[in-house]
Amino acid sequence: MIYQRSSQLFAEAEKVIPGGVNSPVRAFKYVGGTPIFVKEAKGAYLYDEDGNRLIDYINSWGPMILGHAYEPVVNAVIEKAKKGTSFGMPTEIETEIAQLAVAMVPNIDKIRFVNSGTEACMSAIRLARGFTGRDKIIKFAGCYHGHSDSFLIQAGSGAITFGSPNSPGVTQGTAKDTLLAHYNDIENVKSLLEANKEEVAAIIIEPVAGNMGCVPPKEGFLEALRSLCDAHGTLLIFDEVMTGFRLAKGGAQELYNIKADIVCFGKVIGGGLPVGAFAARNEIMNYLAPLGPVYQAGTLSGNPLAMAAGLRMLQELNNDVDIFNRLEEKTAYLEKGIREVLTANGIEFTINRVGSMISVHFDKNEVYDFNTAKNGDNQYFKDFFHGLVKEGVYIAPSAYETWFITDALTYDDLDFTIRAVEKVTKTL
Ligand code: PMP
Repeated sequence: MIYQRSSQLFAEAEKVIPGGVNSPVRAFKYVGGTPIFVKEAKGAYLYDEDGNRLIDYINSWGPMILGHAYEPVVNAVIEKAKKGTSFGMPTEIETEIAQLAVAMVPNIDKIRFVNSGTEACMSAIRLARGFTGRDKIIKFAGCYHGHSDSFLIQAGSGAITFGSPNSPGVTQGTAKDTLLAHYNDIENVKSLLEANKEEVAAIIIEPVAGNMGCVPPKEGFLEALRSLCDAHGTLLIFDEVMTGFRLAKGGAQELYNIKADIVCFGKVIGGGLPVGAFAARNEIMNYLAPLGPVYQAGTLSGNPLAMAAGLRMLQELNNDVDIFNRLEEKTAYLEKGIREVLTANGIEFTINRVGSMISVHFDKNEVYDFNTAKNGDNQYFKDFFHGLVKEGVYIAPSAYETWFITDALTYDDLDFTIRAVEKVTKTL
């Protein structure tokens, strides 16, 4: 494959955009080489500026669960745009999407829309702090909750990829209120809560972690967290930015049958437009301005184009009784195929998967937290990544990311991908 035009475009971009990108992981710093510039995308495929076609396993890092340029969503946006793109006044569609989200997700009465997953998580912890009157939060190493200051403490994803988990610019004052725990280690959480009695406002967690590759919760872990939170008067925040409207209609709360106190959304809920949201029961949400004292706002929040895309996306997911089964089956098929090929070729690996979130770790040991995720063979991953790109398959350009499967993928695409993995594995 040729990347001449992508290289030229990247060189131009670097002159006027820091690192040539508007979000760091896109720059290929981790895997090396030149980022691929997308011209357009349709269904399961990306078409780049050099005319190459790639099967897409990132899907905008999750949102395009039904494929790129999904017509019902695109048409909803076009129709809305003709009527004005932003008002800063209430619109009916905000209530429609809120009603649908509240109907689909268990245990929430009200939802507030924002513009990104970062904003959703940032606002959720402010609300938790306001509601409980406590300052500290517990987060898990390797979990990413967006780039707001409180969370850039051993965050996963791009923050690991770049080797700067504790970003300069985050003050000591902020960092001291973020307590770090090990994912899947309940004793660790217990001792943190006991050492900080009546000080911890919330525990925030990715119920299935997706930012250190995919790392599922061990059996009983989320239940135990729920009990600890109840015992300590601490709120449990599920960051469902990745898992929401992906693992099930009602996200991880539904899948694991655990009630969170506050739930954060992003990605799928915006149908590919910039949307995030956070939601909870009335008692908590009524603490938010203008009803309550906790301030949170946004000029473009509830933007009509974003709401039109999100509403149409949620309607499609809500009306398709088989969608989450189909995604599960396709991803299980891919998992089985890759497993067979890697095993046959003597590669040491672990595959983690929950529903349509999957990641391949190049380490034979179980991956259940940030430390075990870091044991993977990074050089092998880099070669694997570039090998797959040459074969026309695009996975995330970092070993600390999850692959997001879209329903637009056919079984032929999955077979093509498995063959590509086989070819690459044989040459490495
Ligand atoms: N939470 C999780 C679990 C995420 O994966 C992400 C983004 N990958 C965020 C929050 C932040 O969302 P955004 O990039 O939309 O700000």
